Amino acid sequence: MTNSDYKGTLVPRTNERQTTRALLPDAVYRNMLSRLSKSRKPAPIRHLFPYESEPGMISMLAGKPNASVFPFVSLTVKVRSSNPRIDDSLTDLSLDGQDLAVALQYGATSGTPELVNWLTDLTCHLHGSQLDEGWRVTIGSGSQDLLYKTFAALVEFDDVIFLESPTYPGVLPIVQALGCNIIEIPSDADGIDPASMASLLTDWPKDKPYPKLLYTIPFGSNPSGSTTTLSRRLEVLRLAREYNFLILEDDPYYHLYYGDIPRPPSYFALERKVNGELGRVLRFDSFSKIVAGGLRLGWATGPEVLVNAIDLHGSSSNLQASGMSQMLVLKLLRHWGIEGFLAHTAMCAQFYREKRDLFEKYLQKHLKGVAEWSPPNASMFYWIKLRLPASMKAENIENDEGDSVLFLTEKAIPGGVLVLPGECAYADGRRICNVRVSFSLLDEGSMDEGLRRLGHLLRE
Ligand code: PMP
Repeated sequence: MTNSDYKGTLVPRTNERQTTRALLPDAVYRNMLSRLSKSRKPAPIRHLFPYESEPGMISMLAGKPNASVFPFVSLTVKVRSSNPRIDDSLTDLSLDGQDLAVALQYGATSGTPELVNWLTDLTCHLHGSQLDEGWRVTIGSGSQDLLYKTFAALVEFDDVIFLESPTYPGVLPIVQALGCNIIEIPSDADGIDPASMASLLTDWPKDKPYPKLLYTIPFGSNPSGSTTTLSRRLEVLRLAREYNFLILEDDPYYHLYYGDIPRPPSYFALERKVNGELGRVLRFDSFSKIVAGGLRLGWATGPEVLVNAIDLHGSSSNLQASGMSQMLVLKLLRHWGIEGFLAHTAMCAQFYREKRDLFEKYLQKHLKGVAEWSPPNASMFYWIKLRLPASMKAENIENDEGDSVLFLTEKAIPGGVLVLPGECAYADGRRICNVRVSFSLLDEGSMDEGLRRLGHLLRE
């Protein structure tokens, strides 16, 4: 589906703008595509799918199995209210009839059209975008799937890319396999630091191509837990426009923002608020943290040429995200509406905020003096700098702060506490004394005991 054939009006728009700006010319994006992406041919059958819905068409096109031989007749589905803390009732959203038929049959690569419409509306509602700006939404099997396809569509051997550092460990194997030149841009408690990017770009060697893209996780970054401040986002966007690179905004924790100050706008929203061109941003959202990770559903939003390239990849790989997962989520969203969805995500954020507060209490109790950290304002991670024992530091390196991999294998695992060593989050695999700690699943007793063990091992 493209925005031009979009029919839905599910939610009221906020942030109506006086004028609508168009994205950059298509040729700009086409030039950015990798050779692999440019050489992909449309999948012959999927390419003709849209004609099937033309009035009066008798389709003998696809090898769609006849649903009358499928064993499923109906599925019983019960869902909680959007905020079970206030209302603990259950609603029956059972799946049968036409909805079940759609769920069980092959469907469009970009997703079940009604769900795509819903997410398109959500994008307008949350990010202040308009339908006629040349962007669209596609649904994938989790944002991981869409990130994989995006990097394959854009990045060529020897290309230069910027990665927020430390970065999501799940993205490193993707970019490392592509053989590109990765430049790690440091971040701190205020998120990615554009000053270091600016100084690199100002002194950029004349014979070296400029970076094609920046990959960043703006809310509750995995692993650093940091949320990029508004002023830094503005500077990142300014640099992207000046030096012609794309921003890949990987935002699975957008809805898990629980900071005290109002949530900063996404990059996708920001480029609409700040005068200048549109179309530098490709967003990645996920249902994993707010509905269910096992459904494997995420969505990408951005310039049509780039989203088309993602779909072209999908049309010859996994064909589409699970129809059953999409229908389950669609039924939930139809039932909740936008207000219910936002009430639910607000409840999720509040849940993690309370967990964060409790975890902070036990960090103060057990790790004071042996570790440093900044409390996150979104998501479920603490990035903790351990003061490691001398046995974990190199004798011959000045200022060596130690290696959390050694701490993990020699102390933490034998001592009964598991954390992620920071090394996993750097493209250059540097030794680092930080660890990522996830507090999402811990009850109060496990927080107390887990951090007591960690503190004891560090003091030993
Ligand atoms: N990006 C980041 C930053 C993540 O933390 C994760 C999940 N841990 C993903 C992407 C993948 O999410 P999904 O389940 O939607 O594939």
